[in-house]
Amino acid sequence: KISVFWFRRDLRIEDNHGLYEALKSPWPVLPIFIFDPAILTKLTTKADARVEFILNAIKDLQDKLIAIGSSIQVFHASPLEAYEQLSEQFDIQSIYCNHDYEKYAGIRDGLIQSWAELKGIQFSTFKDQVIFEKDEVLSGQNTPYTVFTPYSRKWKEKLAQNPIQVYPSEILSNYLSVETLLPSLESLGFEKAGLSFPGKEVANPLIQAYHAQRDFPAKNATSRLSVHLRFGTISIRSLVNQAVGISETWLNELIWRDFYFNILFHFPHVSEGHAFRKEYDRMDWRNNEAEFEAWCSGQTGYPIVDAGMRELNTTGFMHNRVRMIVASFLVKHLLIDWRWGEAYFAAKLLDFDFAANNGGWQWAAGCGCDAAPYFRVFNPTLQTQKFDKELAYIRKWVPEFQELTYPQPIVNHEFARARVLEAYKKALDR
Ligand code: FAD
Repeated sequence: KISVFWFRRDLRIEDNHGLYEALKSPWPVLPIFIFDPAILTKLTTKADARVEFILNAIKDLQDKLIAIGSSIQVFHASPLEAYEQLSEQFDIQSIYCNHDYEKYAGIRDGLIQSWAELKGIQFSTFKDQVIFEKDEVLSGQNTPYTVFTPYSRKWKEKLAQNPIQVYPSEILSNYLSVETLLPSLESLGFEKAGLSFPGKEVANPLIQAYHAQRDFPAKNATSRLSVHLRFGTISIRSLVNQAVGISETWLNELIWRDFYFNILFHFPHVSEGHAFRKEYDRMDWRNNEAEFEAWCSGQTGYPIVDAGMRELNTTGFMHNRVRMIVASFLVKHLLIDWRWGEAYFAAKLLDFDFAANNGGWQWAAGCGCDAAPYFRVFNPTLQTQKFDKELAYIRKWVPEFQELTYPQPIVNHEFARARVLEAYKKALDR
């Protein structure tokens, strides 16, 4: 008789809520991970570094588990097939995992839960990925918040009343003793991308300086923890504990993350390709493919936009200030559907997370919750003067940049501004 702990977006042994509950169960725990073809086949390149990141994280888990006489069993199959196989090998009593709020994950977990019920297996899931979820932070009228500031105020009140609990899963050792082999990247159909991954710690001085420094992309002044939060190689609870008392601004960023998961949960239409504010779905986009291509490859003639896109294409990361600039540029200067940009980011960002990415794009397009109003059009030149005055970021990613010889902008700023205001007005007046 065994319990199974199913790792997904929580690839760590330390402070893992579901794993902690599993290890307290009466049966030895078999940790598993499933490479799901329904997810892998959607990736657009064999050199997708996220698969490599996951595999590295699993190797790390395996090393730690081997040290205490266990291991992790890895499948390359649909979750249902994986569980069918497992149930032939073992007498499974209970399956444990952590909540996953994305649409596909909800369907997948529902399927496995029904399968488990039919087999008489208990299926238990826990909150781990966020601090507050679902209906935990609601307004006085018991409705979900759609504006960040009151949400964050209530979030902080709740935190003050409910100090963060940690789940010291790392001190429990009720594992099944097994030996397993991990798949190679090649056997999964992937290859190395040659990208480097950021470390999983953030130093207190960086957090202290965050408020003053975070908007300057040439500085190394943000945590770079997003990929670790995405795959759960670090615990959100440990970061919130670190942030409290050091930096309100950095804590707010972690709350933004919770906020967008909250939006996804309460407003499922955003997962169906719709604008949060549905009237914005009436926009007539130009969707010029050559201009989209120029944006993707960093050839728009606006050096700050080009630098951002080249940083993304080269590293799988882009600084937040520049994400806002390039997103605004695609939607407002080129009048290209924000969903095209969302999909491009989804394919390229190591830290791609549906909730934060969709939230970020809808914010930039003016159609999201608490969005920048549609009539605020970022001026790339002014943004450069403010946030990359010395042109250090631009020169890093666009080394050929010379003021006099750089290609002309693909669209004039004032012209584009007038055009987009007209287009939004038309859509909203309809
Ligand atoms: P820090 O500045 O050190 O912040 C700490 C953590 O807070 C981040 O790692 C992240 O988990 C969270 N966070 C910070 N800002 C936000 C935010 N605005 N929304 C939600 N969480 C936030 N973030 C993603 O994690 N995945 C995405 O796919 C993603 N897509 C984006 C798309 C657009 C158009 C925009 C404007 C923003 C997007 N962001 C996304 C948010 C933000 O840009 C990144 O989280 C941040 O740049 C990651 O760098 P960092 O780890 O150094 O962040």
